[in-house]
Amino acid sequence: MKPAPFSFVAPESLDEVVSALAEHGDDARILAGGQSLVPLMNLRLARPEVLVSINRCHELDYIRLADDRLVVGALVRQIDAETSPLVRAECPLLATALPHVGLPATRNRGTVCGSLAHCDPLAELPAVALALEAELVLTSAVGPVGECPLAEHALDRDAAVVLWEVSEEKVGLTWSP
Ligand SMILES: Cc1cc2nc3c(=O)[nH]c(=O)nc-3n(C[C@H](O)[C@H](O)[C@H](O)COP(=O)(O)OP(=O)(O)OC[C@H]3O[C@@H](n4cnc5c(N)ncnc54)[C@H](O)[C@@H]3O)c2cc1C
Repeated sequence: MKPAPFSFVAPESLDEVVSALAEHGDDARILAGGQSLVPLMNLRLARPEVLVSINRCHELDYIRLADDRLVVGALVRQIDAETSPLVRAECPLLATALPHVGLPATRNRGTVCGSLAHCDPLAELPAVALALEAELVLTSAVGPVGECPLAEHALDRDAAVVLWEVSEEKVGLTWSP
């Protein structure tokens, strides 16, 4: 199957990404790992006219602790979060869930934030985010939109997810199997 015709831009900065989203409005979609969006396009269930790739925005590719919050940038691949010593140490629930997401091949491309943005009700990572009361950090061409829980973002397609944050009291949360 082949997608409907589309144009493609691959900015190298977050500012350019949100400018492109603002310029093209509802016709644009962010492309992260493409593991959900591309199959939907191939089936023509999604027909964005413009794909705005974040794959050259290396400023979004980091995992770190900041003010006792675990922060996962929008370009962090699922496999990199899965193998991150920081994630294993600070967020064992996320580390334990990740090997259940798809296959190694899909995790090599798919991003943590892309799964949250896509928010498939059957997906593992949105459930983890809800359990951890994690927040998405969003930005747009007119500036930061702020932090919001996952449920609110599902209604908002205009902003780019920049970060995924687990707050101080939830970092290190684990459970009894
Ligand atoms: C064979 C196969 C098996 C799979 N199995 C599973 C599974 O078992 N469990 C599971 O949870 N998932 C599964 N997936 C989906 C996979 O985990 C995807 O990687 C994930 O759902 C989306 O991440 P992505 O980075 O590929 O996003 P993309 O496909 O690039 O984008 C998905 C959607 O999110 C939007 N988006 C992406 N990033 C952002 C952002 N930073 N800001 C705003 N919007 C954004 C896009 O515009 C698009 O609408 C599977 C996929 C495949 C192909």
